[in-house]
Amino acid sequence: MSLAVSFEFFPPRTDDMDAQLWRSIGRLAPLNPAFVSVTYGAGGSTRERTHATIKRMLAETQLKPAAHLTCVGSSRESIDEIVRDYLRSGVRHIVALRGDMPEPGPYAQVSDGYESTPDLIRGIRKIWPFEISVSAYPERHPDSPSAEHDYALLRAKIDAGATRAITQFVYDTDVVLRFADRAYREGVRVPIVPGIMPATNFKGVVRMAKRCGASIPDSLARKFEGLDNDLETRKLIAATVAAEQVEKLRRHGFDSFHFYTLNQADLTFAICHLLGVRAEAPAAGS
Ligand code: FAD
Repeated sequence: MSLAVSFEFFPPRTDDMDAQLWRSIGRLAPLNPAFVSVTYGAGGSTRERTHATIKRMLAETQLKPAAHLTCVGSSRESIDEIVRDYLRSGVRHIVALRGDMPEPGPYAQVSDGYESTPDLIRGIRKIWPFEISVSAYPERHPDSPSAEHDYALLRAKIDAGATRAITQFVYDTDVVLRFADRAYREGVRVPIVPGIMPATNFKGVVRMAKRCGASIPDSLARKFEGLDNDLETRKLIAATVAAEQVEKLRRHGFDSFHFYTLNQADLTFAICHLLGVRAEAPAAGS
């Protein structure tokens, strides 16, 4: 079964981070990803940098970029203008998100803003029939009152025009399998693409997981025990664990995977290699 991969990057804050990002893009681009996505900082804080990164991808590479866009804290008009600007730049794929409030707390719509992610998707599609990916939360979003609520919201996002659901990273693969089974039973008819987060900086991943409600299986924690000062071994283990997770999901019929690269190419490249995703050979005579 063929395998489609996509890679997520974040917009760089400094010149060094910029160089790191473009080294990573240079290494991963030959793997011919289905798309690459660029995140949008909380509250639109990276707006210019997200935009600049996307524009450079369009100008200098053959990659198909997807621009993340959150509607929190912004008026409809300002969001619509960003979307029109992306359209003019050649972007055809948006990852549409509600986003987080700048300070921890419940989501509050600004008076002239989009009310929810489905509302945002309808707004985007009024401008142009973009390909639209959305988030999905196999372990429930921290704001969610129930799993039922999350499935209903996912269906509402699809009814509004979303064409793909990318999951929050999940290390317990059975949780992803149960989530997808139930989503398909409940009428979700778009591909569910597991988000894969290679766990090199295990302590950092544990912190991130706490914030977004993802669990860390004891069996995974045990694999990283005693390796706090051993980055090389952590990398080898992270690559093996992620490749095994993808292989298990493939055996259950998944054929597309989204890698949270954190702008680091080596691990994602190694995992893709293990999975048989190889750089395209240059055309004969070129
Ligand atoms: P939704 O899926 O629309 O909603 C999330 C949950 O919030 C729902 O389960 C629902 O229970 C609850 N909820 C929604 N509306 C309401 C409401 N009106 N009242 C009460 N509860 C409500 N964040 C960024 O800042 N930038 C990014 O680029 C980014 N990219 C992401 C990419 C992926 C693949 C994923 C999985 C997440 C990403 N995030 C990003 C994180 C995301 O913004 C946060 O998780 C945010 O809290 C929810 O946004 P969402 O679109 O996932 O929300």
